[in-house]
Amino acid sequence: MFERTNPASGEKLEPIPEMDDAAVEAALARADATFRQWRTSALDERTALLARLGDLFEAEKERLAEIATREMGKTLKSSIAEVEKCAAAFRHYAKHGPEFLEQSDVVVSKGAARIRWLPLGPVLAVMPWNFPYWQVVRFMAPAIMAGNVGLLKHASITQGVAAALAEMVKKAGGPDGLFQNLAIKSGAVDKVISDDRVVAVTLTGSEGAGSKVAETAGRKLKKVVLELGGSDPFIVMPSADIDEAAKQAVTARIQNTGQSCICGKRMIVHSDVYDEFAAKFFDGMKAVKAGDPMDDGTDMGPLSSFEQRDTVLEQLDRMQKAGATLEFGGEKLDSPGAYLTAGVLTGVPRDADVAKEEVFGPIAMLFRVDDIDEAITLANDIPYGLGSSVWTSDAQEQERFERDIAAGMTAVNQMLSSTPEAPFGGVKLSGHGRELGPWGMHEFMNMKTVLMP
Ligand code: NDP
Repeated sequence: MFERTNPASGEKLEPIPEMDDAAVEAALARADATFRQWRTSALDERTALLARLGDLFEAEKERLAEIATREMGKTLKSSIAEVEKCAAAFRHYAKHGPEFLEQSDVVVSKGAARIRWLPLGPVLAVMPWNFPYWQVVRFMAPAIMAGNVGLLKHASITQGVAAALAEMVKKAGGPDGLFQNLAIKSGAVDKVISDDRVVAVTLTGSEGAGSKVAETAGRKLKKVVLELGGSDPFIVMPSADIDEAAKQAVTARIQNTGQSCICGKRMIVHSDVYDEFAAKFFDGMKAVKAGDPMDDGTDMGPLSSFEQRDTVLEQLDRMQKAGATLEFGGEKLDSPGAYLTAGVLTGVPRDADVAKEEVFGPIAMLFRVDDIDEAITLANDIPYGLGSSVWTSDAQEQERFERDIAAGMTAVNQMLSSTPEAPFGGVKLSGHGRELGPWGMHEFMNMKTVLMP
């Protein structure tokens, strides 16, 4: 059984039964059989299905959003925005999918050659709870367009969302077996990855889960895309618009109650503007209203679970023991929910192990640096390399950041966010491979070379 708790109230939600071995076997057989049909389906059929999914997500956004908010506590308005973003991703692939699949010609020394994009087969997606629709849809939409079929192992706490996703594909007229939810726990994942009918795996989540899944896939020489954690730098230089930088730094840190892989987690500020930025950033963080996620006036819901809050509090404790100062925040609310107020740490020792961890909660680290070299060194001094946000109006500084920050993504004078058109992913322990755009779709395709006389 999947036991679920509403983190906003502590109330138990109805448990969801796990699938047994026979049900998993039947799902794998269905996936295999459906792939044999779907791989040669007309592109029009795929784009029409994606367009219907876009319309359905739009039409049912309130209902879908409520399921996510009840299970993992994000504000209802942000759940609705997440479902709308999914609708946009379905429409993006419905519109551009056929051009992403166009074959191209290559000049070769003898005769002619072309490259064709062919689907691979059933792909397993192991997904997290933090953006429970979006993380899945950014895999699902390109997979459907590619001619693949999908199997979902969603996080234990978002099994309601998992069931809703599979239901939406059925409702949109997707063939049986095109996208199935495997209601299984993580202990049952190895067997699915090892099954010969599953050709590849994508995982979004923690480093630990990523390395376990990659290890199993590696033993079977199966392709893996990993989108893991991050501790993104948010760098502010003297030429930046400090008001705007401080405002967006707050949003970057507290979005989704701090539980996004691309949250700005380490604010790195030039000493010339440190005091001004810190004053504005502190004001903004103190004004963040934590509370009932169903209430439109709430900025930030609870953490996704009581365990997640304990993890953040334990990190906060280790930060302070290492010598950091908690300026304010990081407090539980007088409520039965898993709330934590937004907080800021200063004086975090740069070489402490805890300073290099991902803090998945609304606590920012604020650092002072004296020049761009120090900013870049500090930005890169973590095992992760997912995103980054840099604030400067100096073109040479922008170029240095773009070139020298070891991350998969750098946003200039804006907080980082994902968008269906651009590749998303990281380097170092943040994973490998890319999602979204044509790049995400091609990760799970056979790029076939055809040589002609
Ligand atoms: P996990 O990485 O454990 O969970 C992500 C997914 O992986 C879930 O579906 C989970 O299933 C599954 N999983 C976990 N362990 C295994 C395994 N050994 N084999 C196969 N599948 C597995 O995230 P947590 O929920 O435990 O969060 C822990 C930390 O991970 C967070 O504090 C944060 O730092 C990071 N994280 C990062 C995310 C990101 O977007 N980059 C998203 C979520 C978490 P199940 O739920 O059943 O365990």
